[in-house]
Amino acid sequence: MERISIEQAIRELGKTVRVAGYVHEFRNLGKIKFILLRDQTGIVQVITRDDIELNREDVIDVIGDSVKSDIAKAGVEIKAKRIEIISRVRRKIPVDPAGYVPTDFDTRLKYRFLDLRKAEVRRIFEIKSKIINSYRNSLLKRGFVEIHPSLIIGAASEGGAEVFPVDYFERKAYLAQSPQLYKQMAVIGGLERVFITLPIYRAEKHNTIYHLNEAISLDVEMGFIDDHRDVMRILKTVVLEMLDSVKDMVNIDVEDIKIYSYEEIVKLLNENNVHINIGEDLSKEHERKIYEILGEELYFIEKFPTKIRAFYTMPDDDIYSRSFDLFFRGLEIASGAQRIHDVDMLERALIDRGLKLEDFDFYLEAFRYGVPKHGGFGMGLERFVMQLLRLNNIREAMLFPRDRTRLIP
Ligand code: ATP
Ligand code: MG
Repeated sequence: MERISIEQAIRELGKTVRVAGYVHEFRNLGKIKFILLRDQTGIVQVITRDDIELNREDVIDVIGDSVKSDIAKAGVEIKAKRIEIISRVRRKIPVDPAGYVPTDFDTRLKYRFLDLRKAEVRRIFEIKSKIINSYRNSLLKRGFVEIHPSLIIGAASEGGAEVFPVDYFERKAYLAQSPQLYKQMAVIGGLERVFITLPIYRAEKHNTIYHLNEAISLDVEMGFIDDHRDVMRILKTVVLEMLDSVKDMVNIDVEDIKIYSYEEIVKLLNENNVHINIGEDLSKEHERKIYEILGEELYFIEKFPTKIRAFYTMPDDDIYSRSFDLFFRGLEIASGAQRIHDVDMLERALIDRGLKLEDFDFYLEAFRYGVPKHGGFGMGLERFVMQLLRLNNIREAMLFPRDRTRLIP
């Protein structure tokens, strides 16, 4: 007989079923014993007259009759005919899966395999899975192709210092901090619309609640655009579809995403007694304040000063660029832009930032054989999930998060 889920067993009223899971609770009333049995889909009461003693979290396999019950929560209970003990708990459990005893975050992450036995923790990852699949489907539907550039790279992608070096035989290599240069080369090569769902690695030294050292980046790059607004339109469509995909699990109502300019936002901040000069990047403090002022769940800010954006960003005029960020409940979740497609301009942008042309030879070369206008964005999956579920730490959205102190498990 095949094991079925508890959810299904509850529906199979009047039938003999086989279920398996963890002992959520055990009550021994002498002749009769009550077991609350839990699996990924739910909890059901099992009754037995067997001479057994169980502890919470023991794993058992039960064959029994699914019958009506007036006392059991589900209205159904299972009269056991045979109970097999698969595995017994051998130590005092450091995280209470039933959730009666709260556990501190460090201990929860150390024992993530126990933490995951809580439905509300599993829900985060079930939603994350839906979100990433809806991102995929939304783009596939629009002719995008998923690509898998290598995560080991020979040159730090943006010239930043926040990279992890690795030994690559006799040479030095780095973990990719972004697929940026490679997704652009894919588009230049003729894969006109590409997307990526891969980790990025950032050696950020500071432990913040918004940063991981390894995060999943949802990237897009598209060719033959007119400007960054084309990219923003795609991002908006995709994000609204991502939200729609979890509407039966998460309550959020967003119909449109408005666009503000950086200049407008700086003015707004100053009017609200937050002093910031044109040319300054928005800090996390600024981001929170903007959310307070605007009160919108999702909004774009576009046309940041060229100086504070990556070298490959297309300028719009002398000061501003064709760039944008997307904010979700006051936190940046995505950055994007139209890219520079002219190789002379690109070389000047590198030099302006004190970067060495030699380091970008392989990249610059791709711009010497015909290049469409193109642009794209990078969106942090964990940031998205964190904001969607109002989690108070981005680590909640990563199964086994990597941060300054955490390398195991
Ligand atoms: P921030 O200023 O918030 O640190 P950023 O501007 O440095 O982010 P980008 O390089 O623009 O980040 O990366 C694009 C997106 O990738 C970000 O909007 C964010 O959602 C996500 N992201 C970047 N770095 C991290 C990180 N360390 N941990 C989690 N997500 C990240
Ligand atoms: Mg950014």
